[in-house]
Amino acid sequence: MNSQTAAWQQALAAAFTSVDSLCDYLNIAPDNLPLLADYQAFPLKVPRGFADCMEQGNPDDPLLRQVLPLQDELIDYPGYSHDPVGDLAAVAEAGIIHKYHGRVLLISTGTCAVNCRYCFRRNFPYAQLQLSTQKIQRALTYIAEHMEISEVILSGGDPLLLNDAKLGRLLQELSKIKHLRRIRIHSRVPIVLPMRITEQLLTTLSGLATQVVMVLHANHANELSSAVAKACSDLRRHGVTVLNQSVLLKGVNDAGDILCALSEKLFACGVLPYYLHLLDHASGVGHFEVSETDAKQLLITMQQRLPGYLVPKLVKEQAGAAYKIPIC
Ligand code: SF4
Repeated sequence: MNSQTAAWQQALAAAFTSVDSLCDYLNIAPDNLPLLADYQAFPLKVPRGFADCMEQGNPDDPLLRQVLPLQDELIDYPGYSHDPVGDLAAVAEAGIIHKYHGRVLLISTGTCAVNCRYCFRRNFPYAQLQLSTQKIQRALTYIAEHMEISEVILSGGDPLLLNDAKLGRLLQELSKIKHLRRIRIHSRVPIVLPMRITEQLLTTLSGLATQVVMVLHANHANELSSAVAKACSDLRRHGVTVLNQSVLLKGVNDAGDILCALSEKLFACGVLPYYLHLLDHASGVGHFEVSETDAKQLLITMQQRLPGYLVPKLVKEQAGAAYKIPIC
């Protein structure tokens, strides 16, 4: 194992896993917070570098709010469910979710570098779907036999948590499939664990015959540290197209100023804002919801203040729909 690989794996192993230790690090008294008593079903996981982007002493910090398990998660909102976007109904083969024309999602791993409390997959049965060594060949065969598939989206969990050897093998196998034009990687790792963008990973990505698109997931400008900016720049220098998707979250980024600052900072990092998602209605996340009416108003604010290329598409995902539904 080289030193860069050892460094990101050690940083991941040292991530905060308890509210007390995270609050202690941030000089926040946990006793004053409406915390969820038992969060082991969806544990807390926060890399130290991400915690370093949070404001000391601020229990309302927008980054902290994304990761802190609160009692609000117990509220049973009508219309919220364990599989709000219909992923299970679209499972075509072990590890493959085939919803949209020409694109398939490959569930490459079940784990993430950070556990986001608003995640639509927080109740998802990853273990049943993620690719095991035995299942990879079946998934590759499915893609090879479906000539209409032009893009494979590596998702999870977070595909960048696969080690370089495993990820490299998977990418190489995919790039041998002649009708694939693009490999897309959906990842929050460059944001919360930017040291994962190692020389070895960059060499693998730049050596593929197929174009690579990486869609990051940042929700607030404070997430974009100088280390994140370097990771984005390294990806671009190695031929990767880098986009970002965000989720509109109450108490995190539901203000025009915050969303405009995010777009500006993303662009300064060489990243284009791609999607702004309405919250998916997964059980336990309803307290993050921003209404569609308010979301439209926020988008108008962005349109008034920013050049068009810095305004993401406001969309929602609807189970069974053939594409993400644009809002206004
Ligand atoms: S990184 Fe993505 S998949 Fe993982 S918990 Fe966060 S939102 Fe969910």
